[in-house]
Amino acid sequence: MNKGPVISVVVPVFNEEPVIMESYRRLTAVMAGLGEPYEIIFVNDGSWDASAEIIGGLTERDAGVALINFSRNFGHQSAITAGMDYARGRAVVVIDADLQDPPEVIPAMINAWRAGSDVVYGKRISRQGETFFKRFSAAVFYRLLKKMTGFDIPVDAGDFRLIDRKVCNAMKSLGEKNRYIRGLISWVGFKQSAVEYARDKRFAGETKYPLKKMMQLAMDGIAAFSYKPLRFATTLGFIISLLSFAYIVVVIYQRLFTDTTITGWSSLIGVVLLTQGIVLMTLGLIGEYIGRIFDETKNRPVYIVSEIIGGGARDSHME
Ligand code: UDP
Ligand code: MG
Repeated sequence: MNKGPVISVVVPVFNEEPVIMESYRRLTAVMAGLGEPYEIIFVNDGSWDASAEIIGGLTERDAGVALINFSRNFGHQSAITAGMDYARGRAVVVIDADLQDPPEVIPAMINAWRAGSDVVYGKRISRQGETFFKRFSAAVFYRLLKKMTGFDIPVDAGDFRLIDRKVCNAMKSLGEKNRYIRGLISWVGFKQSAVEYARDKRFAGETKYPLKKMMQLAMDGIAAFSYKPLRFATTLGFIISLLSFAYIVVVIYQRLFTDTTITGWSSLIGVVLLTQGIVLMTLGLIGEYIGRIFDETKNRPVYIVSEIIGGGARDSHME
């Protein structure tokens, strides 16, 4: 029986042609230094550059490298999900391909794991080479989410983390389609600890998270872990109804007991537009949740694999 790797490293890749060789080099240097069997699983999330060819070349030279090709781009969180599904190690490390999360931090994570932690997340004490907007929006978002969910999703931590086999299995048992991984990992619980690190700038290439994807991820995070936005809609509706009721009393009083002429078309239209805006906004908010219910009921897979290359005893593992 093949004993299999002790550590699996999962690397989501989306058009990372200029960084892959360097990622591989630095990852391998770190992992080889540990002196234990490991595997590196590159999940190619529908790249249209030469990422797949480059990694394919690596699988030929290095039996410890596996490549999972998706049939199209399914997104970062789906790529991580696939990596976790295929990983065989007793611990699984998830790390970005662009070297913003330094592989050299992995040994510290493994030490914390050996010392008894089931989840070791990388906490960013600084972020380099990212725009002020990104840093600011991330800082606000993580804190907002923490407030809204009421359970402990660590702030300033991305998906760079190590999880124990039992956490990985727990993650695999969750059928959610909208995967906000860092939230789910907190949700499953277990013993969590942090390793602090400085986030570097990208080794090469551009961010694959434009504003639209960032917003999507943020909304996934909130909608998957909190009902507060819905409650907010209820509260808002309640307050507005109360105010309107009070105003109606005033209007009736004016009509019956004073001879104030009816003025104020503009205030009327103002109120109408305001309430319409709020109604549409809350409808949209409800729609966000309904859309997610829709996704869940369709029960489509989170990703579709077109092929798996390399990775040694991969077949026996998959039965
Ligand atoms: N990524 C992915 N699919 C996507 C977008 C990104 O697999 O649709 C990968 C990307 O290749 C990288 C990681 O996810 O390894 C993080 O992306 P990126 O570095 O662009 O995000 P940022 O660090 O700018 O937030
Ligand atoms: Mg990055």
